[in-house]
Amino acid sequence: MSHIRKLDPIVVDQIAAGEVVERPASVVKELVENAIDAGATSIEVILLEGGIRRIEVRDNGIGIDREELLLAVTSHATSKLSAPSDLEAIASLGFRGEALASIASVSRLEVISRTAESNAGASLKVDFGRVGEVRDAAAAKGTRFIIDDLFAELPARRKFLKRASTEAGHCTAWVERLALVHEGVAFRIENDGRSVFEVRADDDLTARCAAVFGANIADRMLAIDKPNDVLSCTARIGPPETARRDARRVHLFLNGRWVRDARLLRAVREGVREFVPIGYYPTLFLQLHVSPERVDVNVHPQKTEVRFRDERIVFGTVVNTLRQCLSASDWATRAVGGIGSTVAETPSFGGASAYPVGGSGGGGELAGGASVGGGSSSRDFPAPSWQRADDLRGAAAAGQLDDFVARQAADGSLPLQSDPDAAAGDFLSIANTFLFRPVPGGVEIIDQHALHERVNLEELRKEIREGQVVMQPLLVPSLVDLSRTELELLLGLKDTFLRLGVDVDAFGETTLAIRGVPARLQRLHPEKLVMDLLEIATDNRAASPEKIQEEMLFSMSCRGAVMAGDHVDRAALEGLLKRGANLPQDRTCAHGRPVRIMLTLEDLERAFFRR
Ligand code: ADP
Ligand code: MG
Repeated sequence: MSHIRKLDPIVVDQIAAGEVVERPASVVKELVENAIDAGATSIEVILLEGGIRRIEVRDNGIGIDREELLLAVTSHATSKLSAPSDLEAIASLGFRGEALASIASVSRLEVISRTAESNAGASLKVDFGRVGEVRDAAAAKGTRFIIDDLFAELPARRKFLKRASTEAGHCTAWVERLALVHEGVAFRIENDGRSVFEVRADDDLTARCAAVFGANIADRMLAIDKPNDVLSCTARIGPPETARRDARRVHLFLNGRWVRDARLLRAVREGVREFVPIGYYPTLFLQLHVSPERVDVNVHPQKTEVRFRDERIVFGTVVNTLRQCLSASDWATRAVGGIGSTVAETPSFGGASAYPVGGSGGGGELAGGASVGGGSSSRDFPAPSWQRADDLRGAAAAGQLDDFVARQAADGSLPLQSDPDAAAGDFLSIANTFLFRPVPGGVEIIDQHALHERVNLEELRKEIREGQVVMQPLLVPSLVDLSRTELELLLGLKDTFLRLGVDVDAFGETTLAIRGVPARLQRLHPEKLVMDLLEIATDNRAASPEKIQEEMLFSMSCRGAVMAGDHVDRAALEGLLKRGANLPQDRTCAHGRPVRIMLTLEDLERAFFRR
């Protein structure tokens, strides 16, 4: 026979704490958010042993009244919500009134605080939920929280904590996230007496990105600022070579709150897909501002998941903004010694030939009033260092380039466009996969498949835009046996196929006849093409015709390209290099992998221990 009893309030809080307080970093997050909500302009986090032994957070915010100290550590007590309708439009970071009570139930907490109005401070201690007495205490204006021995009386929880250095890393990550989006507030975090991260109150977003991602990356981040009443979007994107396999460098914020939302992350990947290899995540700061009544942040106790009222609009805006900005950026334009440019006969990089440099696209106005620009100069931004004019200038100064190029680089007069009729120049094909060619300042290595794929994609896109994909009728139609539903699905897309230069119709009840394929994709195997198209059509049943067309375009560009390892004769390779001379974007293939990389003289010198 069991007896039902009401739980002891301390136990209730400890159970609730399980949802909010997982590790020292959760405490840091809650306390720093409280400090931000309290209007602090300076917040300091001091850890001992990664916060496992002690977490101290000091702020210079409004402070807590002596009479309210007890209330502050009581569960469901908050100054941030009063009427239920307030939940509809939450503007503060906290609102549940749970954090302090939860933390106090699983640690030894001390709070010392003084408001601007009172001339004496007060303190209160709570020992694993056992509340002490409010006492007088000397204090500067603001609040200090000291959290000792987290989980010490809850061995089951404590054993899940990791090494101190790991816990310190998680704590720092939270301070970084909050620091990114709270300009005007200084943040500092130290662990065991060592300062780990710091920004000043007057540091702007660029300086904050530099503190979080490193100055080297921050300098080259593409900036997007798209203001709007209902939904505004600010972003900083790192260049493609900083992409990573995990999403740790992706920082998404909604109304000042860091969020980890799988669907939002998917929208980001969709937006950058042509610039970042499949399976990789960009280095990204993305901040959305949506009117509070249009989102619900009260989905999860840690408040890192959100729900949008108009999901499609929000996700669509993210995808389109990223896409527009990336394709208007220099990432999408040519590099030094761009494909198709004339290259010196000798690898001394001499000769009075025209070397293209930098981008022709640059920043510019985007539809919807968004402006694009790099942190410093939009032209410099996305190109890796070896493509930048100032690097060339540096190289020139070091006597690495011949006079002619040096002079042009120095006064910025290097031509921005290459001559499409120029010879493909000297190149060496290695392993039927890579083309090596000397360019000013180093050696360029091109992936033949990636280049061909990009050439196909850009050429087809242009033809489609102009409504004239050249179709090659097949003398003998290719026949493919399918199921009835498959056949129906494909025939339903007949118009999309025609626009892409693929002509299909039914040949009996379960056979599809392919009567024509795009002329330029000579390598395309008709049956394989149909199987690809079928897969795309099946995967994208609910997608718009534009989306389906785009997917098919990617697939056709890839299938119609020479593969790595395919032997291609020299004339054809030259032809390919020439076709690649004037593309709107030639940095990455349709799948976001690089079309080319460059070994600079510096790289080579390093490899030979000359540096
Ligand atoms: P919430 O932040 O959801 O309101 P908390 O438990 O985190 O709940 O905090 C309870 C209350 O304590 C807050 O509503 C606020 O009034 C007060 N408080 C907490 N931290 C601070 C601080 N650093 N400065 C001033 N007031 C604070
Ligand atoms: Mg709070």
